[in-house]
Amino acid sequence: MTENEIFNRALNLGIGWEVYGVAFNADQKELRISIRTVKGSLHTCGTCGKPGCRIYDHGKEREWRHMNFFQYRAVLVGRPPRVECDQCNKPKTARLSWARERSGFSLYFEAFMVMLAKAMPMNEVSRLLGEHDTTLWPILHHYVEEARAEQSWDNVKRIAIDETSRAKGHEYVSLVMDLDARKVLHVAEGKDQRTLFDFKGQLLQKCGHPDNIEELCMDMSPSFIAGAKQYFPNVEITYDKFHVMKIINIAVDETRRKEQRTVADLKGSRYAWLKNEENLTSKQKEKLMRLKDEDLKTAKAYHLKLAFSRLWDQEDPEKAKAFLDDWYYWATHSQIPDMVKAAKTIRQHEKGILRWFTSRVTNGIMEAINGLVQSAKRRARGYRSVKNLSTMIYLIAGGLKLNTVEI
Ligand SMILES: [Zn+2]
Repeated sequence: MTENEIFNRALNLGIGWEVYGVAFNADQKELRISIRTVKGSLHTCGTCGKPGCRIYDHGKEREWRHMNFFQYRAVLVGRPPRVECDQCNKPKTARLSWARERSGFSLYFEAFMVMLAKAMPMNEVSRLLGEHDTTLWPILHHYVEEARAEQSWDNVKRIAIDETSRAKGHEYVSLVMDLDARKVLHVAEGKDQRTLFDFKGQLLQKCGHPDNIEELCMDMSPSFIAGAKQYFPNVEITYDKFHVMKIINIAVDETRRKEQRTVADLKGSRYAWLKNEENLTSKQKEKLMRLKDEDLKTAKAYHLKLAFSRLWDQEDPEKAKAFLDDWYYWATHSQIPDMVKAAKTIRQHEKGILRWFTSRVTNGIMEAINGLVQSAKRRARGYRSVKNLSTMIYLIAGGLKLNTVEI
């Protein structure tokens, strides 16, 4: 076998192409492989997809980065042909079986790059491959968008929406998740009604329908509620347990913050009131034990919180409703302004809070997905745009089947 034949076989460009020269440039650490179309070979029209077209002429010389040859960059150099297509009735650029249209990379290189991007930060991928990340992101966008376009959401029934901070500071992305398939369906910038509007648009495109959505789990933010009512009028809303408890916790914390101005003993007791008792340090526990039965508003608020957390132990929606009514009476008569306020918020959202006893959905899955999202953020380090970040989130948590070639 000649050198050219060896490369021909190894590259596996398919019939119609052959290697006719290999040049090694030691200074640039680059292997340049010259390829050309086989004489008389037939090619597929890149416009209409008709196979078996005869070559009309050849375009300008182009280069495609291929997978490395040992530690050296390998580049394919060739002139893509135009074919005589009788379906298109004029010369058209041929489809290449080993590279996507307009890509400067071979399919193998792209598949390899996508594989790396799943496992390490983009700046690492960029360094390892010796390509600027701005040339690599479009590859990821392509495969992720292609896989997402092929997704069908016709069996999506129970969803959750939640936010995650996009970076340090107060930028957010909102995620819509499929609670049954445990994957991210939709990533949106910010946190507003539009998130659900955009999701509805995509749902319709992907063979789903707003009426198919039975359950929606979320926090009590007015923008999500408004979006849900407007775009998913038939959905049952469950307010996520964690976010419900947060309202009570904030009331306890506010009460303590105000009371400690006059009760010095409360200083430094913040977490003693907020954490679950089993997670307290011995010092916090000691403090809590000493203070919780004192005649303090904070202590009273704390007992209201403990009582409220027993809501989730109720057996059915009716018992839960009766329990909540009792608690509401107690809280609103507690003469603790922050607790009264919290109780009224709970009352206002009662339907969605009690819905949990039927739907049993929570955003707990978000915890798991959030871990993936945090790692997506690390992998998208220097991600430059929300588009890059969302592509990385879909890549890692979107449950996609990417159509890359097998390496
Ligand atoms: Zn054609």
